[in-house]
Amino acid sequence: MPSQKNSTPLFSFEFFPPKSEDAANSLKNVQQKLSILNPDFFSVTFGAGGSTRDKTYDTVIDIQQSGIPAAPHLSCVASTKENIREILNAYKDNGVSKIVALRGDMPSGMMSAGEFRYANELVDFIRQETGDFFEIHVAAYPEVHPQAQNAKDDFKNFQRKVDAGANAVITQYFYNAESYFAFMDDCEKNNIDIPIVPGIMPITNYSQLARFSEMCGADIPRWMRKRLEGFGDDRTAIRAFGAEVMTKLCQQLLDNGAPGLHFYTMNQSIATLAIWDNLQLPTNK
Ligand code: FAD
Repeated sequence: MPSQKNSTPLFSFEFFPPKSEDAANSLKNVQQKLSILNPDFFSVTFGAGGSTRDKTYDTVIDIQQSGIPAAPHLSCVASTKENIREILNAYKDNGVSKIVALRGDMPSGMMSAGEFRYANELVDFIRQETGDFFEIHVAAYPEVHPQAQNAKDDFKNFQRKVDAGANAVITQYFYNAESYFAFMDDCEKNNIDIPIVPGIMPITNYSQLARFSEMCGADIPRWMRKRLEGFGDDRTAIRAFGAEVMTKLCQQLLDNGAPGLHFYTMNQSIATLAIWDNLQLPTNK
């Protein structure tokens, strides 16, 4: 199994832009708690078709001003080159130098795909417009993107993003470590040596997780589903089980060469902090 271990693992936390003042205050609190862990960056999602464009931007600028780098997600579906150019320039002017470049999904009811069809075209455009200014992160799917014909085609498409100039990769979340290791093997065979950071989805709410996983093609192994179903509405038991399972998964990934971890925090700190503490990761890297 190829190892991507380096002396300074990459740790990052993902947020979505808050929809209300209360949610914004709560996110500030979460951000403060996670800042103590000294992550490499906080990333902020971009709603389908640009639906959170302004809120993503405001959240990113707030984070960037707090001293920890922010990495805005930018999806290109339903966008024009001019829209993307404007956003890139605004980030550049504010010292934001990391981007998570995505295709995104078409919002329901919207038919036109815009000027970009796939994320590799966005990576290409960012490089054409801004040279090496941005550190570009792209998405990968160890369990295969739900719209892909098969794993081989999906991998080839993933490779287009690397060839277009991506610097690093964040994976979709998964609960089968083997899928990540197999993906890493494919990367090694194809001489891809940029960091492939596993995406980690803490488990706190089974019905929500089942819904998300259905949409994004992440497999919840049968034994985990059956355990989670057995807890019913007992949130404490779900959290305890989730912390134990995720700690073991993260440990296995780090022990076997994962170059870091990217946490899908869902704008909450408790579950992420529990995993971090269990792993005995440093608070001051
Ligand atoms: P692509 O890499 O373009 O791939 C999409 C599909 O098209 C795949 O099936 C691929 O095999 C195929 N494909 C790719 N290139 C080609 C090509 N040149 N020719 C033919 N087929 C091709 N969504 C949001 O809306 N906002 C977010 O903030 C967001 N953040 C995310 C963060 C991470 C880390 C991840 C893993 C996903 C995120 N998503 C987000 C979801 C993502 O937008 C969806 O999974 C989307 O369906 C695919 O985006 P992508 O960038 O991986 O697309």
